[in-house]
Amino acid sequence: MTDDPGALVIRAPNHLGELILALPALEYAESIEAAAGRRMFVQLVAGLDPILDMSSLRAERLLLDRRRDVWAGGRQIRRTGARRGVLLTPSQSSALMFCLGGLRARRGTAAPARNWLLTDSVPRAPLLARHRVLEFMALAGGEGEGDPPVPTLAAPGDADGDGGRGGGDNAPQVALFPGANGESRRWPAGRFSALAARLAAAGCRVRVLGGPGEESLTAAVAAAGAPHGDCQDLGGRTNLVGLATELDGSDLLVTNDTGPMHLAAALGTPVVALEGPADVRQTRPLGSSIRLVGRFDLPCVPCVKNSCPRSGAGTELPEARNECMWLISVDEVEQAVMELLEEDGSGE
Ligand code: SF4
Repeated sequence: MTDDPGALVIRAPNHLGELILALPALEYAESIEAAAGRRMFVQLVAGLDPILDMSSLRAERLLLDRRRDVWAGGRQIRRTGARRGVLLTPSQSSALMFCLGGLRARRGTAAPARNWLLTDSVPRAPLLARHRVLEFMALAGGEGEGDPPVPTLAAPGDADGDGGRGGGDNAPQVALFPGANGESRRWPAGRFSALAARLAAAGCRVRVLGGPGEESLTAAVAAAGAPHGDCQDLGGRTNLVGLATELDGSDLLVTNDTGPMHLAAALGTPVVALEGPADVRQTRPLGSSIRLVGRFDLPCVPCVKNSCPRSGAGTELPEARNECMWLISVDEVEQAVMELLEEDGSGE
């Protein structure tokens, strides 16, 4: 008989921002397993693999071409011979994958649809008051209390760890990310356009970033800034590595609540985060140069919805929808940008 608990598989989150917030937990688990001489595998969607390349993790990876293909994922796990698994995803399909993979110990947050698939279901409610980094840490067996550790990444080719920041001419490079997954999380495009114009006129090199499907949005924002100075549209033109390189080379990012927000923070790029319905206790970006701008005194904040459920009279706007984002002014965002650039030594 042996007491060896066997190798460990950790299923990483499926979304960019969540994966970055899971990095401290993955690194913690790796340190524990390495100290015990055991193997650890990280299972994740293939498209996010470049993020692990930018991290300090050395764990073996199990890449999923289709995240809900439970049979392929199960076979993949079974081939490792691992016996334990921790789920950092909330889905039933990922828990089923662990069962099909032959993992005897399966830990994850409790949910009625998947409790029967877990051997260690962790109630989520007590975890929700903490930052998501600490929630992941607790699931991975770590402390899960106190100040959340800051996720860190190094962009490809950034040997000295400072990106392209501070190089070239003195004009600060400011990236704008006007898109977001949910419409309730988007600061109005016209405000981003006005900001682009003001920053370009102030001598900043403005780069407008966006993912696939956001090209018309980034083009409109860049077109508003271009007549006033150096303002370029890079929407849809960067893959994940290119996006990281661009953020790493920027002196500051202005963004809605997005995955690139967490990517920039992890790369050490100062971030002005425009927060609306998100619960910033759980998902605020972490780092030393972060400025949150939002209407945190509104009674409906945080609703954590991708589409605003509010409408009707009794609010500060005739059209009440998305008040949390509509009430953020260009003036206050511009001021936050200038102050953070000054603090970081990039402003003139
Ligand atoms: S309900 Fe409130 S917090 Fe939620 S999206 Fe609407 S205005 Fe924003």
